[in-house]
Amino acid sequence: MLRKNRLFTPGPTPLLPAAQMAMAAANIHHRTADFRALYTRVLADLKTFVGTQNDVVLMASSGSGAMEAAVANLTSPGDKVLILTAGKFGERWVELAKAYGLTAEVLSAPYGQTFSLDAVRSRLTPDTRAAFMQATESSTGVRHDVEGVARLLRDAGGDTMLVVDAITGLGTTRFDVDRWNIDVIIGGSQKAVMIPPGLAYCAVSPRAWTRMESARSPRYYFDLRKERKAGAKGESAFTPAIALVAALAAALDYIREQGAGDLAAGREALIANAELCAEMTRAGARALGLKLYASVPSSALTAIAAPEGLDSSVIVKSFRDNFGAVVAAGQGEMKSALFRIAHLGYYDYLDTIGIIAALEQVMTRIRPVEFGAAVAAAQEIYAERSVDKVASARP
Ligand SMILES: *Cc1c(COP(=O)(O)O)cnc(C)c1O
Repeated sequence: MLRKNRLFTPGPTPLLPAAQMAMAAANIHHRTADFRALYTRVLADLKTFVGTQNDVVLMASSGSGAMEAAVANLTSPGDKVLILTAGKFGERWVELAKAYGLTAEVLSAPYGQTFSLDAVRSRLTPDTRAAFMQATESSTGVRHDVEGVARLLRDAGGDTMLVVDAITGLGTTRFDVDRWNIDVIIGGSQKAVMIPPGLAYCAVSPRAWTRMESARSPRYYFDLRKERKAGAKGESAFTPAIALVAALAAALDYIREQGAGDLAAGREALIANAELCAEMTRAGARALGLKLYASVPSSALTAIAAPEGLDSSVIVKSFRDNFGAVVAAGQGEMKSALFRIAHLGYYDYLDTIGIIAALEQVMTRIRPVEFGAAVAAAQEIYAERSVDKVASARP
């Protein structure tokens, strides 16, 4: 059969056609009124998308650039910081802390797990200058308890900045950024906002802006204060990724349409969509006797453990060779232990049913499968969750 190339990876994710068109048409200069209008609109829409009153800064980099920016702008060499890690992206915080000469208190949970709040509490001291975590650890598919950690920090009443890598969390997970006091929350373009890699964004709290004035770690390109100042005038400090900014504007418009003209409602619809895709996928995997890799699964992606004695790359390759579906293997030491199917961004019912049906075909090459078992389980979930729409569509 024909094979259409389709991305099911937790970044890059499938591109929104309207965003692709906007990119192709973006033949504008960045020091013009046209661009300033576009940039101002995108920054305002990003605030709504993140769900915050805090200023949002946009950067031309992959998501890790904003992670580095958070470290560089909020810390001074030797600062004590708390890092919560349970996967490859958590380990990135550890490496960043090392690169910036911080004293890192590292609380790690095994891959596939999350940390207990009691453990977090026991590692938190009054001199902890910042805490770094992921909202959803994309290497294992786990959702961490951002709200719980935020509450701990608030109860402690200190001056510990909370920095959340929500690169696969935004658009798949609910955050009350301002009420929870998330000081920096980070997103990336190649995830739920359905555009190519190359943009990172973060929302920064008032007390984090204040911290930056005294923080002494070196920073130049990623000086958030410079970007904030330029952003207030509808510009970026350096040449922006103009085409990606145009794409992001189109994507945010699309998300707004999902909310019938209300961007916050559109964000909620996007999250609900990811939740339903994830729930269908989990049900399908379980119906085939597969085990989930994550103890607390996120809606951003589903990580599925390779069946006993099988390297997950066989499954990944089979998806690609037979169906053109690009699913992700594990990262690093987890490479052959799991495979990952993403739900963040531009996925719909047919994508989800399709990948679940393909999973049956892939698995039947490995062990006996009852065709339809995974699809039926996913259908049940879909029918339960969309009961109103289905019922109201009946004549
Ligand atoms: C994708 C991702 C990142 C950023 O990776 P880049 O390759 O730098 O864009 C960081 N954290 C998480 C949880 C991610 O999923």
